[in-house]
Amino acid sequence: MEQLPQRLPIHSLSLPEVEARLAACGQPAYRAKQVFQWIYGKRAKSFSSMSDLPAGLRTELESQFLFDSLEPVRTLGSEDTTRKYLFRLNDGSLIESVLIPASPALYGEASDRRTLCISTQVGCAYGCKFCASGLDGWSRNLLPGEIVGQVLRVEELCGARINNIVFMGMGEPMANYANLMTAIGIINAPWGVELGARHITISTSGLAPQIRQLADQPLQVRLAISLHGATNAVREQIMPVNRKYPLEALMEACEYYTQRKKQRITFEYILIEGVNDRPEDAAALVRLVRRLNAKVNCIPYNQVEGLDWIRPSEARQDAFMAVLQRAKVPATIRREKGHDIAAACGQLRRQVAPQAAGG
Ligand code: SAH
Ligand code: SF4
Repeated sequence: MEQLPQRLPIHSLSLPEVEARLAACGQPAYRAKQVFQWIYGKRAKSFSSMSDLPAGLRTELESQFLFDSLEPVRTLGSEDTTRKYLFRLNDGSLIESVLIPASPALYGEASDRRTLCISTQVGCAYGCKFCASGLDGWSRNLLPGEIVGQVLRVEELCGARINNIVFMGMGEPMANYANLMTAIGIINAPWGVELGARHITISTSGLAPQIRQLADQPLQVRLAISLHGATNAVREQIMPVNRKYPLEALMEACEYYTQRKKQRITFEYILIEGVNDRPEDAAALVRLVRRLNAKVNCIPYNQVEGLDWIRPSEARQDAFMAVLQRAKVPATIRREKGHDIAAACGQLRRQVAPQAAGG
């Protein structure tokens, strides 16, 4: 039997790509712009609903492109707190996105800042010892459209625009570099979601070559490094990736990024009792931060079922922060929002379908 031509997921494509495909079948370039206005302006979910396009073109679009499905399976959390969405993809894989509203304490009562934490892979291959996402290994990369689709779907479900994006959900964004950058291109573009690059943060466990690659591309996206250990001995214990890219290689890549982008990097540092929260750990962290003129975001460890690390007491957290503050290092501590709804990445997916979580 003759194979049907494969349809391309429309949310994975840029405007010039769709223009080129439509030009090849004799359509004027402005038709692609109209299609994109429907998709990103009016948030159409089918070609048949694009009522000002000729019927013939709609049929042509249907034969060439498809809409990815991100089916909401479960939502946790309420209107004004952190909300966690679990989505099922076309192939049955489960991914999570977490919506974090502005903290009135930081941004004032009237702030409408809404941050979305996005996944980039199904599972994760990096196996950090504190993280639920890596517990079942890695199954696949997300397509650009599945990354963009999380923004569109959550905006639809919560009825408001997202104005800040962090790639801190499931997966290692830099290990899905090409699709990540395509997705960011679509999220950033005036014909796409139209969110400024400075409102987009990529978090990485420290893939040095990709950090350099990111430094060499033009978008002013922000970079966060999941540091979690300020010496090789400590970091290796929690993050196996440190054996491949030890702190020296990572810091050099970060320096390169800082110089090229003229931008401050953020170090994410989860506080785990007795593992990385001693005064000497704080002192080592101060040295790294100073070298890079970076910022630190401390996160008290969120307990994960099946992992035996524990969250330090508030007194220990405060003692750690005091070392940073005395050294005048810019540091904040995130008293986890959504801690009660298992908001740390990968946790909801495991609760819903532990057997399917590995894909
Ligand atoms: N793979 C990328 C992005 C996803 S993980 C990376 O490692 O940076 C992003 C962040 O999730 C981690 O840096 C950490 O801040 C947070 N995280 C993961 N598991 C956590 C846990 N159990 N408790 C608190 N934060 C956690
Ligand atoms: Fe993967 Fe990041 Fe979790 Fe490490 S912290 S296992 S790199 S998602």
